[in-house]
Amino acid sequence: MRWFNRLVIRVMPVLPKSFVWIFSRRYIAGKTLEKAIGKSRQLNAEGCRVTLDVLGEDIFTPDEAEAEKEECLRVLEAIHDNAIDGNLSVKLTSLGLKIDRERCIRHMREILRSASEKNLFVRIDMEDATCTDDTLEVYTRLREEFPRTGAVIQAYLRRSPRDVSTLIEKGIANLRLCKGIYVESPAIAYKKKRKIRDQFAELIRMVFDAGGYAAIATHDGQMIRRSLGMIAEKRILRTRYEFQMLLGVTEKRRRELIRQGHGMRVYVPYGEHWYGYSMRRLKENPNMVGHIIKNLFIRG
Ligand SMILES: Cc1cc2nc3c(=O)[nH]c(=O)nc-3n(C[C@H](O)[C@H](O)[C@H](O)COP(=O)(O)OP(=O)(O)OC[C@H]3O[C@@H](n4cnc5c(N)ncnc54)[C@H](O)[C@@H]3O)c2cc1C
Repeated sequence: MRWFNRLVIRVMPVLPKSFVWIFSRRYIAGKTLEKAIGKSRQLNAEGCRVTLDVLGEDIFTPDEAEAEKEECLRVLEAIHDNAIDGNLSVKLTSLGLKIDRERCIRHMREILRSASEKNLFVRIDMEDATCTDDTLEVYTRLREEFPRTGAVIQAYLRRSPRDVSTLIEKGIANLRLCKGIYVESPAIAYKKKRKIRDQFAELIRMVFDAGGYAAIATHDGQMIRRSLGMIAEKRILRTRYEFQMLLGVTEKRRRELIRQGHGMRVYVPYGEHWYGYSMRRLKENPNMVGHIIKNLFIRG
């Protein structure tokens, strides 16, 4: 299938955007905040919490970072005004982490102040490995001022158990745990599925043993079963974990977990930059083509 996935990625840029939208629309709430709020209302009615994500292009200027911050502030207003059961996910590079770190921190502080006034939670997404140190450093710094802030740890990174230990030592244990979506070098990241799953399970165990909150972000049936096993064995209360899934992915599995009474949060990306986002995701991870095509035919 690899050659087929790569072929699809090569022809995508020459196809009309409207055609690419057919592939992308299942995974993206729409181009506007209003669409994202509409989708969030629908998901809330189905028993899911949400986390909204503004799709950003790569940021090259301070003005672009400023615009991203303004949009994040609008998202928080909209969540609050529409009484959505949800929060915000933010990527620090969209606020200019790579062009002006101090300004990025100022933007993030403004976002967190607004969230805190509304009693809303903000999760800082984890990006590729060139951002890990900076993201964790900015996170730990801001979390002292704004406790309703969370980070993400990627199970494929060899360093992750050390990062989780360090965060736990600092008294922090509200973490989204996921496998990790970027293509990283084998020098720093595990490649074997089994090893990544084992480390994923180990990270969940560390958070539970520290008395923390685990947001278990996966669609992988095996990982979900292992998590449920640990939750049952350790008698973890439902207030101490939730599952998280991406919009449009494994909806049947999502409904099943909700039916069993587990907390579920859906990641709801939206924005004008849906095209760049879709293309980048596909290039980063060609296997997505297989998922997308399968999802066009097999619902749920
Ligand atoms: C809520 C949420 C937040 C995340 N945040 C981050 C983050 O901050 N940083 C980061 O690096 N990664 C993030 N990820 C992505 C994550 O790291 C994985 O790359 C992604 O979830 C796929 O891994 P999996 O555990 O679902 O297992 P996989 O083995 O990859 O997938 C299991 C099954 O789920 C289905 N599936 C998985 N992904 C898709 C898809 N995109 N489209 C269609 N079907 C799919 C397929 O049927 C697949 O067989 C996040 C994921 C979620 C759910």
